[in-house]
Amino acid sequence: MEELVALCKRRGFIFQSNEIYGGMQGLYDYGPLGVELKNNLKQSWWASMVYDRDDVEGLDASILTAPNVLKHSGHEDTFSDPMVDCKSCNLRFRVDQVPEHCKPEDLTEPRQFNLMFKTNVGPIEDDKSFAYLRPETAQNIFTNFKNVVDSTARKLPFGIAQIGKAFRNEITPRNFIFRVREFEQMELEFFCEAGSDEDWHKSWVELRLDWWEEQGVKRNAIELYHVPSDELAHYSKATVDIMYKFPHGLEELEGIANRTDFDLGSHSKNQAELNIKAKVIENKASNAKLAMQDLDSNKWKVPYVIEPSAGVDRGVLAILNEAYKVESLEGGKERVVLGLKPHLSPIKAAVIPLKRNHEGLVSLAAKIKSELQNLRLGRILLENSGNIGKSYRRHDEVGTPFCITVDFDSLEDGTVTLRDRDTMEQKRVSIKEVKENLQKMLNKATNV
Ligand code: ATP
Repeated sequence: MEELVALCKRRGFIFQSNEIYGGMQGLYDYGPLGVELKNNLKQSWWASMVYDRDDVEGLDASILTAPNVLKHSGHEDTFSDPMVDCKSCNLRFRVDQVPEHCKPEDLTEPRQFNLMFKTNVGPIEDDKSFAYLRPETAQNIFTNFKNVVDSTARKLPFGIAQIGKAFRNEITPRNFIFRVREFEQMELEFFCEAGSDEDWHKSWVELRLDWWEEQGVKRNAIELYHVPSDELAHYSKATVDIMYKFPHGLEELEGIANRTDFDLGSHSKNQAELNIKAKVIENKASNAKLAMQDLDSNKWKVPYVIEPSAGVDRGVLAILNEAYKVESLEGGKERVVLGLKPHLSPIKAAVIPLKRNHEGLVSLAAKIKSELQNLRLGRILLENSGNIGKSYRRHDEVGTPFCITVDFDSLEDGTVTLRDRDTMEQKRVSIKEVKENLQKMLNKATNV
């Protein structure tokens, strides 16, 4: 973990937030390379969820959330962790995370601590004019259910996908970007008929395992945890957690829950007419029935929902951890290489003129860079450093799949040296071949 944290800072992936003012716990900022990696990961999720399928729509809803939503979702009452205070070190811990150095006799009785952030909305600061920063992206997928159904004419089964920020006032944020207070989630709510839910649940677990493997997270670094019934969240009939061997231990990367008809049922008016199976509290505030009408019987029914919910930040950490390698080279030397899948690499190729500031070389390199950039495959970098060896090392360390060196022969015959990150092989190729190589590498069908 320490090596990863150091690499992330040194190369501009991830920084401690508010660092110049001493930093703030549980918050991180993504730097020039981190933002690319994170965007690539989100894009890959979005493509597999929305574009590659024919039964999912996208959504981007607001972060500030009305108290009614989080009352009826159950979060106001149940989204809390039992906490104890240690009278010796004066720190507060989650009951299941008390460190060994705290003695049991120093701990207070556990108390519930709600994890939601509140903020004031509008000009008056009083108890009534507040909103929550959403603790999960899921809820405004449910509150938009009718809008999406009415505007797209979707029939069951279908899903709504959303990527966005979520906030939790974690008591002990730790392990770098693993447990933070502000993070991003990639959530799909997949609505289906009651009765087909268990099959869909199984199939989503398999699909999600395949996807993580495509992102470079090896299957043997993952274990499935079938959450026992006494540990299930209030809305869940069954949950399977995808547990990954993070540098600090085996922990949850993604949870796949069968949320039954709980959420749509909870947010509906006239619940008595809807034959809701889950236990929901009466809702006098909602003005909508979040249900589908059966065209044969005219009866309304509330769909069940399967939710694969993944953390972007935990994904980034798992992917960096899988990709990070220290390789021994000839002559007792070492190199650090990030073996990222090319579609996730922050920089797809670096174009390096052999001599720094040499007009002919630099202008040819700039022309090649812009031609490659126009392919819209991701970021291409012009690296005018003048030190080829150093540039190769730097790009190995940040996971750039190809380096393209422009030398004096290039000025004569238009060929360049193409160096492969993983094999370190170098070959002489034309610009056309560089383009073909890049396109082939980033083509989904060939890079999986
Ligand atoms: P944990 O038990 O680790 O606190 P959780 O079960 O509360 O996680 P969920 O509510 O299932 O998490 O959220 C879905 C996903 O969101 C998680 O699998 C994780 O990837 C991500 N996530 C949740 N809390 C955090 C956090 N504090 N920091 C970063 N990612 C998080």
